[in-house]
Parts: sequence; C-alpha cells; structure tokens
Amino acid sequence: MSNVFIKTYGCQMNKMDTSMVTCAFKEAGFSLTDSVKDADVVLINTCSVRDHAEQRVISHLGHLKHIKKNRPDLVVAVIGCMAQRLGAELLEHEAVDIVCGPTQIPQITELVTKAINEKQKKLAITKNIRRKTPEYQTDALEKFETSFGIEDKQIPSQAFVNVMRGCDNFCSYCVVPYVRGPEVSRPPVAIIEQIRKLADKGVKQVTLLGQRVNAYKYIAGEKIYCLANVLKMASEIEGIEWLKFVTNYPSEKFFDEILQVMADCPKVCKYLHIPAQSGSDKILRAMNRRYTAEQYLDLINKARTTVPGIAIAGDFIVGFPGETEEDFKATVDLVKKARYKNCFIFKYSPRPGTTADKRLKDSVPLEVKKGRNIELLAVQEQISDELSREFLGKVVKVLVEGLSKKPHLNSAENPDKPQLIGRTETDYIVVFNGISSLAGEFVKVKITKTSPLTLFGELI
Ligand code: SF4
Repeated sequence: MSNVFIKTYGCQMNKMDTSMVTCAFKEAGFSLTDSVKDADVVLINTCSVRDHAEQRVISHLGHLKHIKKNRPDLVVAVIGCMAQRLGAELLEHEAVDIVCGPTQIPQITELVTKAINEKQKKLAITKNIRRKTPEYQTDALEKFETSFGIEDKQIPSQAFVNVMRGCDNFCSYCVVPYVRGPEVSRPPVAIIEQIRKLADKGVKQVTLLGQRVNAYKYIAGEKIYCLANVLKMASEIEGIEWLKFVTNYPSEKFFDEILQVMADCPKVCKYLHIPAQSGSDKILRAMNRRYTAEQYLDLINKARTTVPGIAIAGDFIVGFPGETEEDFKATVDLVKKARYKNCFIFKYSPRPGTTADKRLKDSVPLEVKKGRNIELLAVQEQISDELSREFLGKVVKVLVEGLSKKPHLNSAENPDKPQLIGRTETDYIVVFNGISSLAGEFVKVKITKTSPLTLFGELI
C-alpha cells in the first residue's frame, strides 16, 4: 500500500478539491500520511491567483528535488491551477512526475498508479481550456464530485460543496478563467443529494462554493434555478443548520432573490463576501469589473435594508496599473462607506496571460503599493474594531471549529479547558475556553473582550 502526502495552497475551492482527492485515494487503496518522510507519493494542489502562491510551490518543488536524490521512487504530482497554467513547462521540473489540471482530477489516482508502475512522467491538462467543456469531462467531474465530495474532516460538522466550476467574467487581472475554464453550474439535484449525504454524516454547516456563486444558474426544462432556489432547497434538509456561500460578484442579477432568502430563512447565514476590488470607476473599468462604485454601494445598502444584521466582507487590490493617489482615495472612501466586517487587501501583481498583464504597464512602484496596502488596512482595522465592540456583553451562537492555534491557553497549559475557536453565523471569529469535545457543536458565548478581528468570551 502506498502512502500519500498532500499539501494544499490557495482558496477554499482548492481545499474542497483536496478533500475529494483524499477520498479518491483512500477508495483506491492508498493511505494518507502527514509526513513527506513516510510518503511514497507527494501531491501538491496549487494556486495561480497570485505570484507569491506560485513561488511557494516552486520553492516546495526545489526541496522535493533534493529529497528525490536519495529517494528516486518518490512520485511527485502537481494538480490545480498552476498545473493547468504551466502544463508541460512544469513537467520539465526535475522533481515533477505528474501534472494534472483541475478538469482532470477524476483521473488522479489512475495517473499516480501508472507513474508508480511505469516510472514515466504524465501530463493531463486541457489543451483549449476556454472551449466548452466536453460532456464526458463534465460527467466525469460530476461523478467525482458526487462520489467523493462527501467527506471533509478539516473542520468537524462543516463541509464545502461546489455549486459551479470555472468563470466567464474575465476580470482583467485574473487568471481563473484561463485555468478553471468556462462557467458551469452543477445540477441542483446533484448538489442537494450531496448535501443530504453530508447531513447524514453529521454535517451541520455547508458552504456553497463558486467563483461568482451568485451567478449560479441552471436551466431544467421550463425552470431556471438560481442560487436562492438552491439555498431554499438545502435549508429543507434535516440536520443542516447553517448555510453560507462564497464568493459573490457585485451584480444585480438574482441579488434580490438571494437577499430575500437570507432574510426569510433562518438557516441561510447573514454573511456576504462581496469583493469590490477598487473604489475608483476608472480602475474598475480597467479591471473589467462591470459596475461603478456607486452601484456597488447601492447593492450593499440594499443588502443592509433587506437583511438587518448582515455582516459584509470585501476584497481590494491596491496598486493596479494606472492607480493614482486620487483613485486610491476613492477606494479609501468606499471602504469607509461600506463599513466591512473585514477586508482582504492585496497588492497588485501581474499574472501571465491576463489582459492586464498583456495590455497594462505595472506602473505603481512596489513601495507605493505597500504604503497603500498599509493605509487601507489601517482604515479597515478601525472600522472592524468599532463593529467588534458592538458585541461587548452580547451572547452569540458559535459553531465550534476546534482548538485555537494560538500558543497561550492551549491544551498543554490548560488541559481541562483549552482555548477553543469557532465562528458566528456572520463569520466573526470567537475565542473562548471550553472542553475540546465541543468541536463541531453549537454553543453560546458571552462576549467579554474584542479586537478588530476576534471576539473573546465565556462559554454559557
Ligand atoms: S469573477 Fe473575476 S476575479 Fe472572480 S474568478 Fe471570475 S474573473 Fe476572477
């Protein structure tokens, strides 16, 4: 029996793919190991969204190259977005035996078995990724998803379910449409069946995943299903208590329906992650984001009116080509108006093959990008701090994830009541002391202290 070690980089979708690949390996008779030392196969699930993520993979491969000098039988497989983006170039790396793109993951156990037996390099990527995905490939992915998308041991009682694959939006900085292919919404029947199986296994919270999940659209005869329909159907499944969905693209389409189901259905969590990316209309146009700052703020306001108590999170890119001080000020202004719970802020880095890389000069100096990043983070931190303070003295419902990774008050120092971590329905992180067997359970916590990104409290 061969041992497989898996390392995952990147987003939640990659973590979801890893979870499925893990199940597929177990089913094929492999066993999992958490140490490269004991592994016969090392599988790296990669991300191409930022240059930094790719550099980490390259350095990991460099390390594996050294290991392979003493252990030439070690099989190294690279899957995910970077595999699709670099293809044969990546296969030339001395450490790499298999390169397998996201649409080929149903073949991964077969590829690994062949590489072990035949001692030959294997390349499995889609040649013309933007061509309509052939039916046999969609069927294989669907079968893979329904067979193996049922177990996620990363966080007890929680699971992630893909509702769509790919993206057709072509934001000018983004590599996703070129590595994940055309946008395809999965049949609602398959999604619901998968969630039902998860509920039978004790899953209480399901997060629906899509690159722009609110664009979910499935036509079955006369009926058009949107995300609101899927959320409604999923909320009727016994055992499922919380439903979340990420990531949203700022668009009017289906937005009212989604907000309404959030307002009406207690199981649909009042949390919306909706990246704006910039507050400047000029930059938004250059990014090929199809809204203005004003339209974006209208969506946020509509969300707050329709769903009282909703928490909103955002993403921003600073230092996009052509971003002036004035453009950046417009972003700061938007952040102040939007009053996000939290924001993910990134410095622009050109991604090969994207329109921004081909047509726009990376004109903003790194020092300026860094300065804007720090400034925007500080603005957001102030807002997050104010919003967190509103929880002081309140009791919140928390789904416990497990032991806090922070070194203080951990199980070694406080074995009876270690520090636990969980999240509220609005995605606030809550830290408190309790018994570790509470992982995967809902508890009530009274908030006694806050920081911008974390609430601290006492278990009730
Ligand atoms: S919506 Fe834009 S940023 Fe999001 S995955 Fe699609 S192309 Fe990339």
